[in-house]
Amino acid sequence: MSGDADPPERTPADTAVVLDAMLGTLATYLRMAGYDAAYALDRGVEADDALADLADAEGRLLVTRDAELAASADGLLVESREVIDQLRELSKAGFELALSEPARCSKCNGALVEVDADARTPSYAPETGARRVWRCPSCGQCFWKGSHWVDVAETLSGL
Ligand SMILES: [Zn+2]
Repeated sequence: MSGDADPPERTPADTAVVLDAMLGTLATYLRMAGYDAAYALDRGVEADDALADLADAEGRLLVTRDAELAASADGLLVESREVIDQLRELSKAGFELALSEPARCSKCNGALVEVDADARTPSYAPETGARRVWRCPSCGQCFWKGSHWVDVAETLSGL
């Protein structure tokens, strides 16, 4: 036995995060996994104090590669440089990482809305086989379960 306590389990339903400027790619993966994942540069926030304040004000867990900031803001330190290793770290820290339904815009973190198939325009017609489409009301981007979705699902299931 290692003696380590099990980490708290985290799911998109109970955990919102803010990621520092180093973790933009990780933010897109977390959004695809359904997390409300704010990203420092999307929010125009880079200074440590401002990041800690944002996390506090919005009830977000601060995820950062800065050990001092993680300690001072009661955040989660990510040590790896590669996103796949960062995802493994989050998985070990209790994050449930899997794809079910598209819920968050990977570009801007907007909450996605499933759109009626009849409302699609040809410019966002998905590749053959994908029937459902979700749209981000904030930036207009459309999503479906295409080849990128399948790739990410496989990546996450292989952690
Ligand atoms: Zn968006």
